[in-house]
Amino acid sequence: TKVLIGMVLGLIVGLGINWTDIFLMNGSLMMADSFINEYIVNGLFHVVGKMFVNALKMLVVPLVFFSLICGVCGIGDIKLLGRIGTKSFALYMLTTAIAIATAIIISASIGIGEGMNAVTESTFTGKDAPALSEVLIKIIPTNPIQAMAESEMLSIIFFSILVGISILLVGKKAKGLVSNVEILNEVMMKMVGLVMSLAPYAVFCLLAKAMANLGVDLLIELIGYVLVLIGVLLFHLFVTLQTVLFVFSRLNPLVFLKKIRNAQIFAFSTSSSNATIPVTLRTVTERMGVNNSVASFTVPFGATINMDGTAIMQGVATVFIANVYNVDLGIAGYLTVILMSVLASIGTAGVPGVGLIMLSMVFAQVGLPMEGIGLILGVDRLLDMVRTAVNVSGDAVVSSVVAKSEGKLDTSIFDDPDAGAFDV
Ligand code: ASP
Repeated sequence: TKVLIGMVLGLIVGLGINWTDIFLMNGSLMMADSFINEYIVNGLFHVVGKMFVNALKMLVVPLVFFSLICGVCGIGDIKLLGRIGTKSFALYMLTTAIAIATAIIISASIGIGEGMNAVTESTFTGKDAPALSEVLIKIIPTNPIQAMAESEMLSIIFFSILVGISILLVGKKAKGLVSNVEILNEVMMKMVGLVMSLAPYAVFCLLAKAMANLGVDLLIELIGYVLVLIGVLLFHLFVTLQTVLFVFSRLNPLVFLKKIRNAQIFAFSTSSSNATIPVTLRTVTERMGVNNSVASFTVPFGATINMDGTAIMQGVATVFIANVYNVDLGIAGYLTVILMSVLASIGTAGVPGVGLIMLSMVFAQVGLPMEGIGLILGVDRLLDMVRTAVNVSGDAVVSSVVAKSEGKLDTSIFDDPDAGAFDV
């Protein structure tokens, strides 16, 4: 598997560069080291990685637009569309709430951060939560082109669904249009394939750069926080999400975990559920057998509103900082944290680092000091990668469950280990 090899090599090379940074303190080697950092890590790796992420982002808006119109026309029934929407929304909120509750319970019972003293000054500036009314109003774009230009996912989803419904209402006359949109959708999917053929090299560059710039010393200092967070993320991925998958759809979690791997690697390398949409879409449709009529809606919707991994980070970080600063939040405080995180995830897009901004909204709400965020800022890059992989896995689980419940999942594709394999 080339992508996997790219990932592992990237991790090794990046960490190698990082360690030489720490240990090589003498003359000539220092020069070689700064050359590597300047021209290789922040030059070559940076450029190749960024170009690839740009290419993925380039696909997102047209892909979502065309595939959602195809999806709505494929469903052909507005009632069914409403059911798919309601089910996926409910499941997304449910899994996010479970995620953060688990995070709070586990980290509070371990008592992370107790006995640590806060000394960090932070340059991090917080942000107030957008009011729910604002989020709702913004779903309807005043200018759809502008919404596309600014990648406002919820507005794009809304507009595309409306276009699809209107085409359905026009009926027979629009038949030609529907088949043209289907062709355009296929063209976009081919483009996803083209971009992904570069994935192994890009993943290598992205990970080598991220690891080379990682604060290893900070990582050791915050080891408790990092380990608990990664532990809860893995628990959610392997236990909670798989239970949801099995209980609601009777699909085999082991098959799911194997097939989701590519999307996870992309999420891990790009730290962005939004940029991963093309890969997630392709994974759930071609590898898991989810019909495009469901996936075209649930995948971009999930990338925007469903962030289980991010919610877990907020739960663990809240307990950690509250303990470091000796603040007792009490049950009411923690319930507020759960509610805030779930709401904040609706209004924020899946892009790198957005979890910290959501965290500042939560802190503002429950009165935790904003400087606390400065404490975990240095290790967030790595954790962002891991939680984005969990976010994307949650989107795929809910897509499969909703599709199965509507008879829109082809189990022969799901069960076939080689179906739609697109390793390059
Ligand atoms: N990077 C995450 C995502 O795109 C969001 C976050 O937790 O920062 O899903």
